Amino acid sequence: MYLRFFSITLLLLFTFHCGLSQIKSFTKYDTLRGSLSRERTCYDVHFYNLKLNIDPDKKYINGSNSIYFKIIEPTAKIQIDLSSRLTIDSILHQKGHLHFERDSNAVFINFKKALPNNSSDSITIYYSGSPAEASNPPWEGGFVWTKDAQGKPWIGVACEGDGASLWWPCKDHPSDEADSVQMAFSVPKGLTCISNGNLEKEVSGKDFNTYIWKVHYPINNYNVTLNIGNYAEVKDEYVRPDNSILDLRYYVLQYNEAKSWDYFQQVKPMLKCFEHYFGKYPFPKDGYAIVETPYLGMEHQSAISYGNKFRKNMLGYDYIVIHESAHEWWGNNVTACDHGDLWIQESFTTYAEALFVECIFDFNTSVKYLLRQRNYIKNSEPIKGPSNVNYHYWKDSDMYYKGSWMLHTLRSVIDNDSLWFSILKEIQDQFSQKQICSDELINFISQKGMINLRPFFNQYLLHTAIPVLKYKIERKKGKYYLIYKLNASEKDFALPIKIKSKNGNTIKIIAENIVKKVEIEENSIEDFKIPTDLYYISVEKLN
Ligand SMILES: [Zn+2]
Repeated sequence: MYLRFFSITLLLLFTFHCGLSQIKSFTKYDTLRGSLSRERTCYDVHFYNLKLNIDPDKKYINGSNSIYFKIIEPTAKIQIDLSSRLTIDSILHQKGHLHFERDSNAVFINFKKALPNNSSDSITIYYSGSPAEASNPPWEGGFVWTKDAQGKPWIGVACEGDGASLWWPCKDHPSDEADSVQMAFSVPKGLTCISNGNLEKEVSGKDFNTYIWKVHYPINNYNVTLNIGNYAEVKDEYVRPDNSILDLRYYVLQYNEAKSWDYFQQVKPMLKCFEHYFGKYPFPKDGYAIVETPYLGMEHQSAISYGNKFRKNMLGYDYIVIHESAHEWWGNNVTACDHGDLWIQESFTTYAEALFVECIFDFNTSVKYLLRQRNYIKNSEPIKGPSNVNYHYWKDSDMYYKGSWMLHTLRSVIDNDSLWFSILKEIQDQFSQKQICSDELINFISQKGMINLRPFFNQYLLHTAIPVLKYKIERKKGKYYLIYKLNASEKDFALPIKIKSKNGNTIKIIAENIVKKVEIEENSIEDFKIPTDLYYISVEKLN
């Protein structure tokens, strides 16, 4: 990376080549699922009204989803998505039935005549069937039909990789979030259904009760969820330093109610830290909520899924609470525009865990936390995945831990904490409730940091190998010299490194792919050490 003042036109000339080392081949169906075809870009979803009956005994769902949308380009055909496991009984438009064709999980709907530009319209899809069961939730998604410790039904659904179309019909591309969503879930009497947002109404039926939930903000499709079980609701509130109030709700299995109040007290200092770093909680009308789930966790918006069995880490916090809640900012407020860009959600969220530790304890403790994260880095595939194919075939966790280290390294590169933290907040402000792609984010950070960070991000996002700093210290005619070179996969990658010695001397170097030499003080030599706790590089000392 060359340190130089930012020029937006120059940055825009660079294109982002993704996934240099990814060799997976993709099918027509990956493209149908992950790309923005004209049948998708021609309309913009405003509102989903999802109504479902859930039968736990039969593991069966049936109901409808009404999609309210605006036409962006005149069209007589649109694409929606729904798992081919589920049967579409009919699609209604203005009281008439529409013809449709299915191609695997894509559904092409034909209107009787072209819908005009700027018109607002709606369709209702009636469907039913047995949705996919999760083989390894939340990583391999689907429904989880299980029982709690008292033998009562306990049901959840997580579908980040496969997408919401695994269980409800929608335009299943991350670039189009509905502005709001209403969900009406009918579940057998005796069970409660918890979903995102606020409970608007509970309607009692003969054998089933219907719970109507409403989300007042844009929401990723995969964040829409349901949780059915024998739940208790524990209410609390977070009073901010400015005396404003955020509603907190914890939905736990009834036999965990007694311990949940104390356990989730950790939420308040966490919210204080995250609001300090990233700005106010993005979904105040919906409140903040945690829902106990039969799987480890998921960032379901305003209904964080929690399945870590009330276990705290050695610092006294539950990392699932911290991680999934950080996603309310990184993922739910600022959303990746494509699954290939998912690092935007996971890298910042995993780094937010370390910032939380810094906020509660101190910087040194957060570095220790980061060093533990570093143990999990595999360097086996690029952090950024291919675009337009709903990429969710990650083999390792590098978009989490290596991504976190990339951001920790970037903080050292920027070397100005007030600037660094203002950039984090500005990303949240600028892209609030929007979707953002890698290129746009990199340009934004470069502009705010006033350096061209393209080679930096290319190095860590697109290449697998860790940059290696090779150095030696040479004595010549009574003077000492540091001779160094950085071997990196990205040709223009250059890393400014600050080396501090115990006697207070600081040497600043810009390591890049050429041999460089700098004179150093004799008294810096004894404890000379490249600070690999601040930069994600490996170091090789030559003799
Ligand atoms: Zn995550």
